[in-house]
Amino acid sequence: MSAAASAPVLDVDAANRELAGATPEAILQWTWKQFQPHVILTCSFQHDGVVLAHMLRNIAPEVPVAFINTGFHFPETLAYRDEIQRRFGITLVELLPIMPRDQFANEHGLDLYARNPDLCCHINKVEPLKRFLPGVRAWINGRRRDQAATRQSLRVVEAFQGSLHKVNPLLSWTSRETFYYMERHGIPTHPLFDQGYASIGCAPCTRPVLPGENERDGRWAGTGKVECGLHTFLDPKA
Ligand code: SF4
Repeated sequence: MSAAASAPVLDVDAANRELAGATPEAILQWTWKQFQPHVILTCSFQHDGVVLAHMLRNIAPEVPVAFINTGFHFPETLAYRDEIQRRFGITLVELLPIMPRDQFANEHGLDLYARNPDLCCHINKVEPLKRFLPGVRAWINGRRRDQAATRQSLRVVEAFQGSLHKVNPLLSWTSRETFYYMERHGIPTHPLFDQGYASIGCAPCTRPVLPGENERDGRWAGTGKVECGLHTFLDPKA
């Protein structure tokens, strides 16, 4: 029987009431107690995901850290990933695009991101994660409310079809709190952070933020696209 089929039903409203005002560490402890061992953290090696990976070292070090390697990351991101993995000793699971690079280049062209970024994200990011999620009951991620208008109404625990829950321990934190946590714990920052990259995704779709811009304004700038689709493909629980 799958984890989803045998899972007890969670009262999500009660869970959110219980976790209102809880620290990220307390939320992670609750998540592990509630859903172990069917828990993952997704991390693109931006600071929020790195902070959660660090917290999990003491709470549930066995939680796998899933990294979606689109093939378009900055070399600095890959070097930072390796450095964090070495320091934290995390169990890294690398999720790869659903088609080999050669096939992608032949069928779509390596510049698909410039012509159809939604399809590019679908092949290289969304579908690889979708295929990894069956059996997972808690997907921890590093979204914060202050990152974007689209994230302001998020709740700490969200329920989706198939007994999957998203858990957002850092919702009430700001980027400054994340930075201070890293400073307190001696965690290095992403090498591009000091060059003005406040939010870092694939290289072709990321530029530094300009004075007065919001944190995610350097992502898919000028295209109207604001999310890669990773956080919008799930169907809410009926
Ligand atoms: S962020 Fe850009 S390069 Fe990366 S998968 Fe999406 S469209 Fe492609």
